[in-house]
Amino acid sequence: MTHATMEEAVQAGARLELAEAHEVLNWGLQRYSPEIALACSFGGASGMALLDMAVRTGWAFEVFYLDTDLLFPETYALIEQVRNHYGVEPVGYRSRWTLEAQAREFAPNLWESNPDMCCSLRKVEPNARALQGKQAWIAGLRRDQAATRSHIAKVEWDHKFDLVKLNPLADWSEEEVWEYVRANGVPYNPLHDQGYASIGCVHCTRPASASDGDLRAGRWVGFDKTECGLHTDGPLELPIAR
Ligand code: SF4
Repeated sequence: MTHATMEEAVQAGARLELAEAHEVLNWGLQRYSPEIALACSFGGASGMALLDMAVRTGWAFEVFYLDTDLLFPETYALIEQVRNHYGVEPVGYRSRWTLEAQAREFAPNLWESNPDMCCSLRKVEPNARALQGKQAWIAGLRRDQAATRSHIAKVEWDHKFDLVKLNPLADWSEEEVWEYVRANGVPYNPLHDQGYASIGCVHCTRPASASDGDLRAGRWVGFDKTECGLHTDGPLELPIAR
């Protein structure tokens, strides 16, 4: 397989901008399988719809999630449900720092004092490890989820992690995602039925709905923070072990 390049990603992005989600997925999987990973947080309906679509293509890919050690019990239960439903084995990537080590070496309840550092330790660094050896990754990002995501392309070059990134659902709406989930019997996180639009770690997630104007309004409430750092521009800055 020839190696993925930035030029290829940009050209594919332009060519596939009007393509359907399954066409974008098929292109990416055909081109990069098995060196391609699908990131699923098990905390949003988009990721679940995408996982369902990708499994249906029959191509080999890795499904991974970032196990921060702080996910909701409902999220861990959904991962188990997915194992049984699809026969896939989601790979969980955990922080190099246990919660105890993080408290000792940085601060107790770091998510309260420095959530950017906490996300860097528990999400960004494990995500970088998950993408090692991959040529492309697939994410469930949508342009309507937040202002920070309004510019994403369906295929683009990920400057942070240095590989191709696919956003097949970029132009889907929340309603379209739920239509797909219901029509196809896709498993989803039951916290959605309790008012949570977007589900991350227990300490940083509050109920919020689309009527709040921002589907991620329930994340990091009280902080000027809307992203965990995985999907933002800028260089990859990993925490240094002390
Ligand atoms: S979402 Fe909160 S608890 Fe989870 S890694 Fe980020 S700051 Fe830490």
